[in-house]
Amino acid sequence: MRMSKIYMPTLREMPAEAEIPSHKLLLRAGMIRKLVSGIYSYLPLGYRVIRKVEQIVREEMDDAGSQELLMSAIQPREIWEATGRWDNFGPEMFKLRDRNDREFCLGPTHEEYFTNLIKDEIKSYKQLPLNLYQIQTKYRDEKRPRFGLMRCREFIMKDAYSFDVDEDSMKVAYENMWQAYDKVFTRLKLKFKVVQGDTGAMGGKVSHEFMATSEVGESLIAYCDHCDYAATDEKAEVVYDVEGGVGELELERVHTPEVTTIDALVEFFGIDHSKFAKAIVYSAQGKPVIALIPGDRELNETKLCNYLGIGEHDLEMADGDTILSITGADKGFTGPIGIKEDVRILVDSRISKMKNLVVGGNETDYHIKNANYGRDFSGEVVEDLLLVKEGDRCPKCGQKLKMDRGIEVGNIFQLGTKYSDSLHAKFLDENGKEKPFIMGSYGIGVSRSVAAVVEQYHDEDGIIWPLVVAPYHVIITVINTKDEVQLELGEKLYTDLKSMGVEVLIDDRNERAGVKFKDRDLIGIPIRITAGKKSKDSVVEYSIRGEEGRIEVPITDIIPLIKEEFNKAGLNFLK
Ligand SMILES: [Zn+2]
Repeated sequence: MRMSKIYMPTLREMPAEAEIPSHKLLLRAGMIRKLVSGIYSYLPLGYRVIRKVEQIVREEMDDAGSQELLMSAIQPREIWEATGRWDNFGPEMFKLRDRNDREFCLGPTHEEYFTNLIKDEIKSYKQLPLNLYQIQTKYRDEKRPRFGLMRCREFIMKDAYSFDVDEDSMKVAYENMWQAYDKVFTRLKLKFKVVQGDTGAMGGKVSHEFMATSEVGESLIAYCDHCDYAATDEKAEVVYDVEGGVGELELERVHTPEVTTIDALVEFFGIDHSKFAKAIVYSAQGKPVIALIPGDRELNETKLCNYLGIGEHDLEMADGDTILSITGADKGFTGPIGIKEDVRILVDSRISKMKNLVVGGNETDYHIKNANYGRDFSGEVVEDLLLVKEGDRCPKCGQKLKMDRGIEVGNIFQLGTKYSDSLHAKFLDENGKEKPFIMGSYGIGVSRSVAAVVEQYHDEDGIIWPLVVAPYHVIITVINTKDEVQLELGEKLYTDLKSMGVEVLIDDRNERAGVKFKDRDLIGIPIRITAGKKSKDSVVEYSIRGEEGRIEVPITDIIPLIKEEFNKAGLNFLK
């Protein structure tokens, strides 16, 4: 491709709307453009990268025995109604009506659709196991679309679904997909961790997320250096030791004017954070709920939602009026003692074992000392409502956990029968008995993976594409296009390389060398050849984006050097 012809609207200025490197660089390099919030176009260079990522995904999925097909992005309400997700998926689902007033959604995912397809076609255990996938556009009306391709409302995803006769067979399918994902992200040159995830809106019990490590990642990961434990902060189990053995002291009402935060209470009482019980009032599907956790910890809203069986969009912090109506006091003085019976109190299991806590008095400007679960208050004890933090003990080996940030580029779910049961998708087993399919589902964010690669491979001048996903392998820069010798040499190399199947760009623009070098850095083509003054001796300059140094080489040596780069990247040099 010729730089004089390519549609590549690069930007000199930093786009004001972009906060993170991948968003800035993909915009500046003319690879993507925003239409409206969270909706992007992939321009020619960017789309080449997308297609390469898709191809890697496709090859590994095919190799793992999955079969590609393509479903519609538009799905009828009825199949979502059957699984309860028409309502439960929440405001993230784009909904629309056709001219006959029939309701549809733009698919945020395809579990219902695949299950619905299979149920009328697969009748016998002999046709199983089956694994199907597609690479397709998905829609989620995110509350806060941001960070360019990282969190979009329209995005490209590979989604796969497995159908098996029993749990064991499903686990084999799950493991198989895990291996395929390992290969995909390794080929994409991503540094990643596989962590336990929360199953959330997908359902099922077991899931894992593939996280590309990045300081701008939106996901927090708790992991252990001493064993293989790793989980998202939403999922991570919290180990919290409770000191036992103290007798129960008498309740004491204490005047605490304007002392409304845990920090202020610590100062007022002169005791440790952990001696307080923090009461947080939520509105869950419109009903007030109080969560009670140790004063030195944060609440994990995902665990709370899972316990309540609601989606996160159904949970919000209660306002001052609600708090006043259920406690009779202002915010900051809520406690578990004397709350109306119809208000659910969810007690973190650690609280139920702790002695002589300070709690809110449910009376403005008052707290109560020496409150004890069982004697002074009750509630539903929930095993674990806490958010993990750095330094917590590993639930597996007891060593200290570390925290890292990641970009979720893939996820795998053991769904079980959630969808086959609700959609009545059954097959006949060996004994002629009807059984529901045991399912798994498996996603890879294709467009998000592109953003993750840029996050891991860039510098202040631009993107540094790994060769396997680079929009072009080689860029030839002709320093002075008016110099016939330089231009001819550049053109000859361009033609030769193209004929060998190398994807090559030639910068034949009548621009200053500085402009060409800046653009070259920005768009991040890995292998760089510069035809300058030494062209008359058939010598060019050769360098690799992101690596130190450049060498002068006779053009006869160029092909072996490029071959070497292809070998290093695990790519076949075609001819
Ligand atoms: Zn461990």
